[in-house]
Amino acid sequence: MNKPFQDYLAPSMLELGGADMPGDGDWRYGQDTDQIGWLVLDRKDASVNTISDSVLRELDTHLDRIEAAPPRALVLRSGKSAGFAAGADIHALAKMDAEQTAKLLSEAHAVLHRLEGLSCPTIAVVHGAALGAGFEMALACDYRIAIEGASFGLPEVQLGLHPGLGGTVRLPALIDPLQAMQMMLTGKTAHTRRAQDLGIADIVTEERHVRAATLAVARGEVDQHKRGLMGHAFSLSAARILAADRMRREVQKKAPKHHYPAPYALIEIWAEHGNDPNAMQKAEIASFAKLLQTETSKNLIRAFMLRQTLKSGAKGECDIARVHVVGAGVMGAEIAAWGAMQGKQVTVTDPDEAALGKTIQQAAQICKQAHKDRHATRDTLDRLMPDPRGYGARHADLVIEAGPENPEVKAKIFAELAKRIKTGAILATNTSSLHIGALTKHVPDTARFAGLHFFNPVNKVPLVEVVSHDATSPDTRARLMAFCTSINRLPVAVTDAPGFLVNRALMPYLLEALLLIDEGTPKERIDRAALDFGMPMGPVTLADQVGLDICLDVAQSLQKSLDGKIAYVPALLRDKVEAGDLGRKTGRGFYDWSNGTPTPATNATASEDLTDRLILPMLDACAECLRKGVVANRDDLDAAMIFATGFAPFRGGPMHYAATRGFGTIHTRLEALEKEFGARFQPDPYWATHA
Ligand code: NAD
Repeated sequence: MNKPFQDYLAPSMLELGGADMPGDGDWRYGQDTDQIGWLVLDRKDASVNTISDSVLRELDTHLDRIEAAPPRALVLRSGKSAGFAAGADIHALAKMDAEQTAKLLSEAHAVLHRLEGLSCPTIAVVHGAALGAGFEMALACDYRIAIEGASFGLPEVQLGLHPGLGGTVRLPALIDPLQAMQMMLTGKTAHTRRAQDLGIADIVTEERHVRAATLAVARGEVDQHKRGLMGHAFSLSAARILAADRMRREVQKKAPKHHYPAPYALIEIWAEHGNDPNAMQKAEIASFAKLLQTETSKNLIRAFMLRQTLKSGAKGECDIARVHVVGAGVMGAEIAAWGAMQGKQVTVTDPDEAALGKTIQQAAQICKQAHKDRHATRDTLDRLMPDPRGYGARHADLVIEAGPENPEVKAKIFAELAKRIKTGAILATNTSSLHIGALTKHVPDTARFAGLHFFNPVNKVPLVEVVSHDATSPDTRARLMAFCTSINRLPVAVTDAPGFLVNRALMPYLLEALLLIDEGTPKERIDRAALDFGMPMGPVTLADQVGLDICLDVAQSLQKSLDGKIAYVPALLRDKVEAGDLGRKTGRGFYDWSNGTPTPATNATASEDLTDRLILPMLDACAECLRKGVVANRDDLDAAMIFATGFAPFRGGPMHYAATRGFGTIHTRLEALEKEFGARFQPDPYWATHA
């Protein structure tokens, strides 16, 4: 049997050769019988370590003692089973002005300099993730030992920042500077083997060999990673200037400077000071403090916090361990595979046995994309059971129906399930366009029936709408919310309104784009307008991606239930569907997908008017959803739109963006568009009442 994590963590108190290991702060320190010093970060009242001002000050105090009586080697590690450290305390940082930030960072840098300058070898032992400031602390050590499964990353760019605790200086000094810049510019994480290949991890080992590995370092048996040829090449300013030009061009393709200044600032610092660590450190501090004050960073931090808000919306422990999925098509297969990977026992049924086979392949693929090792992949596949006869329904705590989008077929499925499903189990449907309340006729228990609307692809889109109809009990909703969190997805509670929240808001935007094509606007120009606004892909590409048949289904169903706002469904959409050009899945829609991706939009340009014509109908639908109580509040709405559609996160969400422009301005713009283009732009009363 495996020993519990805590047993491996550090030598037990008994072995700590008489040294103390006080436990009232965030750090504990003690020496073991081999005179190795163990400095364990274990933040009080938190399940995850973050690096705050107080954590660094306390580290500084420990360094007083360690400098005075150095151990043979000093080990830094985490006392949390969750991982090494998740990064800086972003809540505290977000409240500071530029001057306070610069002062705090200078003090923090001084502490890491002390750590770096210790006379004994220093070793960061990393299990789980070392991110942001956590990784930067590990970079200030002489060696890094990675436990299998460890990962290292500097994701600050996702918050509109770059590393601020010496990462911009130490990572390019440690590994190939181009790889270091790549990691910081993309925010991507290096998993164990990759980290070793890059030279971030000096040793990769199992938890049980950590003590032996630290002793080997203390005895001088492990060579420290040496900077390679590339490091020397880029100490020349001319080489950095050339490489920086290339980097800027690459970044420009994905993140224009006026929306995302941080990567450009990072390139600038490296190009200018890459051979002078002191100057680079000063520039890093000044630039970080400045970036933290930008609207982009404030809004990206807002998006980060909204993610926490959605997670905390789910109260209580999840009591759902067994899940039965009905229908193994595009969605059912993904839901089943994802659920199994996240630890649920999953059975999946479908009359089409080939679909069940594909579900297993899908699970293996999802594990690969999530960098699961072969043990974790095997465990996932063990938990996922193809179940052609649907026996799993008897034992499941939750049954998710993901059959065809047809009320009669769904009614049949529910009637069949009613005979099998166990008392107390929840039945949920993944329908995107049907009225949930109208599906209750054959369900076994209406109070335990709800919508659980996952988005495609489930492993990439974190949001799930938990849809209550009139009779769904609060307990059912709460259990479903907790279930979503337990499978690492973000739940938002919505009501059973047409299109729920996300499709209701997205559809007017997609349809306006298709109408613009009908009017003769080139599709590339339309997509360019949305990309320039900051959407992750243009609406025409998105429609192709979702599937034009699905768009047509949702549009028609919304049209029936929403008088006026969706007065038409563009003829072009019907024509495409009739011709069988359904988008990506058939190789052709509005774009040609035969090579896997559509021909990229070239040098199309877009005007502000065009952008408003696309974005304002979406904002107006959001306002309507708030007025009708489809979603509880603006923050939930903004979070849902960011995490389901990728709505320009640097704008903080659609309602935050509307508030930035002013509700009065939005109202006036909609009125002008209504005059020009008709009733679909008529402003929702919400704007006037909340102006
Ligand atoms: P799909 O057509 O890919 O899959 C449906 C599956 O159900 C097929 O494998 C089919 O063999 C199976 N099936 C047919 N009759 C069945 C029965 N009686 N019992 C069990 N299985 C049966 O459809 P999909 O795109 O996966 O959509 C499934 C549901 O998810 C729909 O309600 C849809 O609205 C919703 N949804 C789809 C998407 C999307 O992007 N595709 C996104 C969100 C929600």
